[in-house]
Amino acid sequence: MHKREFLKVAGLAGIAAMANPSGVFAASPAGGLAAQKAPFTLPPLPYAFDALEPNIDKMTMEIHHDKHHGAYVKNLNDALANSPLAGSSLEQILAKVTAKEAAIRNNGGGHYNHSLFWTLLSPKPTTPSAKLTAAINGAFGSLDAFKQQFGDKAKTVFGSGWAWLIVKKDGKLAITSTPNQDNPLMAQLVQETGTPILGLDVWEHAYYLKHQNKRPDYIAAFWNVVNWDEVEKLWNKAK
Ligand code: MN
Repeated sequence: MHKREFLKVAGLAGIAAMANPSGVFAASPAGGLAAQKAPFTLPPLPYAFDALEPNIDKMTMEIHHDKHHGAYVKNLNDALANSPLAGSSLEQILAKVTAKEAAIRNNGGGHYNHSLFWTLLSPKPTTPSAKLTAAINGAFGSLDAFKQQFGDKAKTVFGSGWAWLIVKKDGKLAITSTPNQDNPLMAQLVQETGTPILGLDVWEHAYYLKHQNKRPDYIAAFWNVVNWDEVEKLWNKAK
């Protein structure tokens, strides 16, 4: 990391820590993220914008985090201003939101999904533990088969959306996808609910600058930067 970027990241982290003394921006945000309440704030990236190069490029990360995620946060706070959901936690908002509250649905999902997504990527190579590998093998056959099935799900999202690895109510792992900024916590809106422990943003804004129309190339690059340590933490918490 360049010194200037480090200072920028460190500065943002400092501001976030002051604004959120409860530590909702800790490295493992599952509990903290779900428990957040309005006004929501943009969490700093836990690494530099260029840290995922060459898999995910710096400019994509800058625009994706600062502009896209930043807008979801602002628009979510605006949408909640006159809503009975205003005092609820992010998890409760997502569980209760219906199709009638489009701005809260889209921006609440956008804030949750991106806050989670940043932590699921890592500049440092990681691998799933033996325990998590065994669970993945049990559910999908092998780690490679899981990657294939998850990748197929991500490739076949028509238009914008997300692919997910979730822990269902019965503790089992499942692959699912959602359109737009929906996610598996939206009990009123999606068919397959569960706790997301891995998610892949397949909106074109996540990859178009580097990969253009080649979503499969972006999915292949994603596997190089998945933060399996974080997936494991979320899995342990969810099951
Ligand atoms: Mn996105």
